[in-house]
Amino acid sequence: MAGKRWIAETLFEPRGFRVSYAADRVLYETRTAHQHLVLFENALFGRMLMLDGATQVTTRDEFIYHEMMSHVPILAHGRAREVLIVGGGDCGIAEEVLKHKAVRRLTQVEIDASVIDFAREHFPEFARPVFRDKRFACVIDDGMRFVAATERRFDVIIVDSTDPQGPGAVLFTRAFYAACRRCLAPGGVMVTQNGVPFLQPDELVASLGHFKALFADAGCYVAAIPTYVGGHMAMGWAAKDRKLRRHSARTIAGRYARAGHFPTRYWTPEVHVAAFALPRFIADQVAKAKRSRM
Ligand code: SAM
Repeated sequence: MAGKRWIAETLFEPRGFRVSYAADRVLYETRTAHQHLVLFENALFGRMLMLDGATQVTTRDEFIYHEMMSHVPILAHGRAREVLIVGGGDCGIAEEVLKHKAVRRLTQVEIDASVIDFAREHFPEFARPVFRDKRFACVIDDGMRFVAATERRFDVIIVDSTDPQGPGAVLFTRAFYAACRRCLAPGGVMVTQNGVPFLQPDELVASLGHFKALFADAGCYVAAIPTYVGGHMAMGWAAKDRKLRRHSARTIAGRYARAGHFPTRYWTPEVHVAAFALPRFIADQVAKAKRSRM
């Protein structure tokens, strides 16, 4: 392995933890106007995208996060027609959302045009079907500015952001969540990339504290994503209707059948429901957030 470049995830260095991936080939590396971007090939995880030292997507395990961040809110909602993605640069979530033929319009607000351009070239498996779909519109803007100003209303908002550093930090603030609530239609739901509770407990507690103050229903659900290291990843849940996350697997299965029963590799109606059953230490973080005075 001598002479091989190892690329480190530096996100957790302040906590004394780092993982590194052998780069068999670096395909692209640049500093965009917003962040450091590197794409490389790794023998185990395939093509890997890192932004500012945080793993964003790998071709080996992307399906887990992309399926769980899209099918859970859309099938829980049941009548989603207008969907907003904030962030989402690699277009993996957009690809999953567009599998729902009842979705009339999908808007993606991404701050960094370089990530979009780059995804079109290096992640064609996601980006090609997305940019061919007439329902899709990509806006290059800060997600905070967009949700604060738009007159549009959305049934589902998916915050597929980087971690709370650099341009992503604003997407973890009370102001951003309040602006998202403003542009959620009645009965709407927002889900958020909310980190790995075992390593980033404060991030989840802070977000859920804001959700509790702003939404009728605040919680999270989990999935195990190998390259989001540290155990379960939490996806924040903020809804205007408390019933949305309490549907049975039977109800969700019926909606999935009507949506066309498209193939999945992680999400199933049973996994959908089970994802809201939290390990005790994560449930304790949710309870702590609900006691907090954010
Ligand atoms: N799945 C990844 C994860 O869990 O960390 C995130 C994928 S996607 C690459 C994250 C995107 O959020 C990036 O393309 C980044 O440019 C974008 N982003 C960061 N801050 C933003 C902001 N304030 N407004 C809009 N997009 C933003």
